[in-house]
Amino acid sequence: MNQCPNFARIIEVLLNYGVDALSEKCQMLPGTPLKPMLAHPTKGVQEVLQRFDGIKFTCEFKYDGERAQIHIGEDGTVSIFSRNQENNTSKYPDIIGRIKNVKGEAVQSCILDCEAVAWDCEKQQILPFQILSTRKRKDANESEIKVKIIVFMFDLLYFNGKPLVTQPFVERRSLLREHFREIDDEWKFAISLDTSDIDELQNFLDVSVKENCEGLMVKTLEKDATYEIAKRSRNWLKLKKDYLSGVGDSLDLVVIGGYKGKGKRTGTYGGFLLACYDNENEEYQSICKIGTGFSDEDLQKHSEYFKQNTIPNPKSYYKYDSSHVPDDWFEPVQVWEVLCADLSLSPVHKAGVGIIDPVKGISLRFPRFIRIRDDKSVEDATSSQQVADMYSNQDQIKNQDKSGRDVEEDFY
Ligand code: ATP
Repeated sequence: MNQCPNFARIIEVLLNYGVDALSEKCQMLPGTPLKPMLAHPTKGVQEVLQRFDGIKFTCEFKYDGERAQIHIGEDGTVSIFSRNQENNTSKYPDIIGRIKNVKGEAVQSCILDCEAVAWDCEKQQILPFQILSTRKRKDANESEIKVKIIVFMFDLLYFNGKPLVTQPFVERRSLLREHFREIDDEWKFAISLDTSDIDELQNFLDVSVKENCEGLMVKTLEKDATYEIAKRSRNWLKLKKDYLSGVGDSLDLVVIGGYKGKGKRTGTYGGFLLACYDNENEEYQSICKIGTGFSDEDLQKHSEYFKQNTIPNPKSYYKYDSSHVPDDWFEPVQVWEVLCADLSLSPVHKAGVGIIDPVKGISLRFPRFIRIRDDKSVEDATSSQQVADMYSNQDQIKNQDKSGRDVEEDFY
């Protein structure tokens, strides 16, 4: 099912050949996007070494761009899919034009897992995600493209008619390096280092940050090193620079309501109500009000967008407290990346209610807007369970567990 997320094909095979034929007849095929494998957060080099004790692993730069799953079919058709399985082919005519350069002689078909990153050809330097996000989203015309990109290849999921996902990463990586080529300003393999030496690892992390990356992705090579479609797997750990400054991982939250601005912000929204997604109950649970991190242009842009997505009443699957009712409710249509100082138990917010405490939810303290995540659907937002895990993983909570004290939130 994960290898062939195509219902029409699955039903056809079930009806004509029965369940036993599924694995043979519903194989992975270029042209059908796969849900990507994702990583677990870790808080430092020490934690990585503990988790992967005795296991061979590699560290790769974690590039801050957009995931690009590049499919090449037997007939030469190229398609590019986002993290969210959206078809991004028409966004990247420049990548399509370069396919011939990257392919070795023996390549007939393949699925490459890559990150597309904004690139300064003159300075030979990675540019921040904000620059990449200014590119046209659909039907881009190659001659009009101003923001150049480079593609970093990090995995090979399918090669010449065969899925590779059940093979260990060390073999997938060696096929990737054997059959695909690096080309200046166009294609690169993700920079990697195979080491379990603590100083080398720390140094490599520092270098990745200096090179404008988010940090490292640490991946098992041999044991437990298959590609796990659609999973946030323990075989991949992420080590981001943000975690190191003690701020913790960012969250991706759904905007469900807006509060009208006052003073300088009159006429736009000045704050928003955010929610995480509870997959089990299929509901959005409020997690914080946010009014920080926005430029005036941001607020203008968000206000225009959400004014077109207001609804007269909250959805039945919005969980919030009557003390936080916004001026306008919104359809669940956009995900925002948000950083915070920490997470605390809340008598009013509903995120993860019932997981840590029977009646209290969890909320974010000092939330700050980072960016829109339009590569994530609202169901891909940070889940209640992830919020609860982040809450429990905080050092003060781990220590407080020993002392038995409770930590309440500050009101926004
Ligand atoms: P976020 O991107 O906010 O960290 P996420 O849930 O989208 O969260 P993660 O599991 O944290 O995804 O990180 C995986 C993402 O990192 C991938 O979707 C990919 O776009 C990007 N990435 C950059 N470099 C690499 C790499 N070397 N290997 C795998 N993924 C990479």
